[in-house]
Amino acid sequence: PLHHLEERLRWSWGVVSHLHGVCNTPELRQAYQNQQGAVVAFGSRAGQSKPIYRALQQLAEQPLDATQRRIVEAELRHMQLRGVGLEGPEQEAFNAATAELAQLASRFGNHVLDATNQWSLTLTSEEELDGLPGSLRNLLAQAARDAGETGWRLGLDMPRVVPFLKYSRRRDLRETVYRAQVARASSGEDSNGPLIERILTLRLEQARRLGYANWAEVSLASKMAGSVAEVEQLLEDLRAAAYPAAERELEELRACARRHGAPEADDLKPWDVGYWAEVLRQESFELDGEALRPWFPLEQVLQGLFGLCQRLFDIRIVATGVGDAPSWHPDVRYFRVLDGASGSPLAAFYLDPYSRPGSKRGGAWMDECLGRTNTRAGEAVLPVAYLICNQSPPVGDTTSLMTFDEVETLFHEFGHGLQHMLTTVERPQAAGISNVEWDAVELPSQFMENWCYDRTTLMGMARHWQTGEPLPEAEYQKLLAARTFMGGTATLRQVHFALTDLRLHSQWTPDGGQSPEQLRRELARTTTVLEPIEEDAFLCSFSHIFAGGYSAGYYSYKWAEVLSADAFSAFEEVGLDDEEQVVATGRRFRDTVLSLGGSRSPAEVFEAFRGRAPSPEALIRHSGLAR
Ligand code: ZN
Repeated sequence: PLHHLEERLRWSWGVVSHLHGVCNTPELRQAYQNQQGAVVAFGSRAGQSKPIYRALQQLAEQPLDATQRRIVEAELRHMQLRGVGLEGPEQEAFNAATAELAQLASRFGNHVLDATNQWSLTLTSEEELDGLPGSLRNLLAQAARDAGETGWRLGLDMPRVVPFLKYSRRRDLRETVYRAQVARASSGEDSNGPLIERILTLRLEQARRLGYANWAEVSLASKMAGSVAEVEQLLEDLRAAAYPAAERELEELRACARRHGAPEADDLKPWDVGYWAEVLRQESFELDGEALRPWFPLEQVLQGLFGLCQRLFDIRIVATGVGDAPSWHPDVRYFRVLDGASGSPLAAFYLDPYSRPGSKRGGAWMDECLGRTNTRAGEAVLPVAYLICNQSPPVGDTTSLMTFDEVETLFHEFGHGLQHMLTTVERPQAAGISNVEWDAVELPSQFMENWCYDRTTLMGMARHWQTGEPLPEAEYQKLLAARTFMGGTATLRQVHFALTDLRLHSQWTPDGGQSPEQLRRELARTTTVLEPIEEDAFLCSFSHIFAGGYSAGYYSYKWAEVLSADAFSAFEEVGLDDEEQVVATGRRFRDTVLSLGGSRSPAEVFEAFRGRAPSPEALIRHSGLAR
């Protein structure tokens, strides 16, 4: 009954939040902000309802099956964390802070979006394009045309800024772009600086009201990781393995710059790292990420992904006709998922693949449109997912040609989608990704990324969009070799983010005499090999923890990577070319990780699939950090 009560609001507000993310307009933003207070207030009221709390406490005394018990316990904890146990003025202060935190989060995110959009630089001469690949030139030219300008228009959105920093031979322009990028939302009207201290202070106060020492403890109360110390330990293990590797990698970049006679060789700056890494990568592997795009047109990548899912999980995915489901943009597509054996419908999903910098939030994500449940009339509701990417759109007559990174991102989000869509749990509160601990939720997504490196999968989908020619074997070998390239740097970067997040929420206090930025810079000494530059205000655009739900939870990516790498190693153990064993292992993955969702603890689900507890060995090996 509680679920049915809440479903109407979840559905309507879910649609509004979704549109706020994918077609943000001033009107919608205003409408969203106008209603947000009421939604938060309702959530607090339901979350603090004494009758509901007492009813759940009574339920917890009843004989329950394992799924029911996990749902009731999670619900009770959820209510406790929403302040159900607080009384009078204490509860009022708690609710006021909750509402303020939601507003601050949405302002934080909007500042980042605005700061990203407001900056542009129009290049007008060929010399300024030195080094840029054709696809990026086209993208910049199109951006200029869209703005009514001639030339090439640079912006700070990912599809433009990432390749620019990688390929531009103009060090002065790289520096300009980099400085703008890291200083986003750190000054003027859009500054997030004051918001950060306010958010951290409010969270600390909320934690203390709930009887916890800090916000990190609140966060971990509902996660798979047992304590702050346990997370610190994993991050330190990874830091210790990654730091020397990152130092070696930086030295290799300096040596590479020296070989090219670059004046900056002995004084590499952050805006040089991406560029020289790309030069070294091309020299070491002769692998040109941009040159691989023609082998990855979106249509074929989708066929490869769907074929893999058919093979591993025995499902069929079919595109439906235009108009089969309501949509928000002409580029959005809609697919249905059928059971391979019976042909019966299981689920459906939207795919919104392309970047739209003016109105669509950056990054990629999966969200629930509808969850698996039964209506009050007993009618089955099948899950529907939103899959949102921000890959390069088609340019002119050229279809969307993906980088290998974009292919991995699509596989990743699809992994989340699979867990949402292939659930067999009948109780909506534990179906799909519901009730899955945050730090285990990236297991299926990161697991799917591994298949991008599997020969059968990759060679099956990578065909030249014009000639149909398969990806040359040598290129495949280079992709494999490049996988661990700069692996120490990449791991260290994640450790830096995760540890900054954890310490801000476990050690920082407003009266501790240290600003959040100072805390981050102190941490940077042991978690970066190139000190952040003075105007680097990374925290001001760290939306994951200040505008999203990752506060004191950024470590989850690495935590779940231990699980996902170990899960994939089950396929490696049986042999990736042993079709019968791969298929059997794939079915077992569907029947455990993808089916059970939040109905069992993540440790139990993992063990049901793997036959033992998780081990970090596979992750360290896959990252190239094994000694
Ligand atoms: Zn993910």
